[in-house]
Amino acid sequence: MPTKRSELKTELRKALKNSEIVPYFQPMVGIRSGKLVGFEVLARWLHPQRGTIRPDEFIPLAEQADLIGELTDTILLQAFAATAALDKSLTISVNISPIQLRDPSLPEEIRRAAAMAAFPLNRLTIEITESALVDNLELAASIATKLKNLGVKLALDDFGTGYSSLRNLQALPFDELKVDRSFVSSMVQCRDSRKIVAAVIGLGQSLKLTTVAEGIENETQADILRWLGCDVGQGWIYGPPVSVHDLPKIVDAPMSTSTHTLHDSPASD
Ligand code: C2E
Ligand code: MG
Ligand code: MG
Ligand code: MG
Repeated sequence: MPTKRSELKTELRKALKNSEIVPYFQPMVGIRSGKLVGFEVLARWLHPQRGTIRPDEFIPLAEQADLIGELTDTILLQAFAATAALDKSLTISVNISPIQLRDPSLPEEIRRAAAMAAFPLNRLTIEITESALVDNLELAASIATKLKNLGVKLALDDFGTGYSSLRNLQALPFDELKVDRSFVSSMVQCRDSRKIVAAVIGLGQSLKLTTVAEGIENETQADILRWLGCDVGQGWIYGPPVSVHDLPKIVDAPMSTSTHTLHDSPASD
C-alpha cells in the first residue's frame, strides 16, 4: 500500500514534532537474583487516531525517510530524563538502527543528549542488531570504539538470527550478547533449540560477555536459562514494557514471580 506508506511517513515527521514517539521501559532482571538490573527502552508511537503503533512498523519508515537519527535522539533524551534520577545501579539499553553505525556523528550526539539530562554514560547500553553490520565493518568498529571510550556498553541483539554473527562478534567490542527470542520460545519443546541456547550462552561466557535472554514467558524457560548460567532475563514473566508514568511502580515492586521461583529452585546457588 504505497499511499498509506507515504502518508505514514508524512505523519511520522509530524509525530516527532508533536512528541507522539515515546519510550516504553521493559524490566531486565538478574536471572539468579530476581533483582531488577535495568530496562530496555522500546519506542512506541502514540498515534492520536490509530492508537499505539509498534516499532516494527515505524522504524523501517523512519530509516527510509531519513528520520532515524531524529527518532533516536528523541528516544534517548526522554529515556535519559526519565531514568537519570533512579538508583545508580539501574542501566538502560537503547536500540539503534544498524544504519546509524555508518554515522560518525552518533557518539557525539549520544554524549550531548546524556549531558543535557546529566545521565552518566556508564549506565547506558546500546543494542545493535547484526543484520546490516557487515557492509562496512571498519566504519562500524570505529564508531563502536568511540562509544566505548565514552563509557557506553554495547550489546549484540537478536544473536543467531542474522548472518556472519561470529565475525561481527569478533570485529566489534561487545559487552553483552542477547539470545534471540525465537530460540527461547522454542527451547522447552525443542531439544535442538535448547542446545543452541546452551551453546550461545557458553560462547558468551567464554568471551566474558554478559548473556541476556529475551522473550522469557514462563517459569520453565527461566529455570532452564538459570541452569544454563544465563545472567539476565527479559520477557512477559518479568513484565511488559511500560510507559514513563508506570516506571516508578516497577522500580519499587519486587520482581515477585521470578524471585520466588528462582530462590526455590535447586540450581539457584
Ligand atoms: P528487540 O530489541 O529485540 O526488542 C524485544 C522485543 O520483544 C520488543 O518488541 C518487546 O516488546 C518484545 N518482547 C519482550 N518480551 C517478550 C515476551 O516475553 N514475549 C514476546 N512475544 N515478546 C516480547 P517491540 O517493542 O515491538 O520492538 C520490536 C523491535 O523494534 C525491537 O526488537 C527493536 O529491534 C526495534 N526497536 C524498538 N525500539 C526501537 C528504537 O527506539 N530504535 C530502533 N532503532 N529500534 C527499535
Ligand atoms: Mg533490543
Ligand atoms: Mg532483541
Ligand atoms: Mg528482537
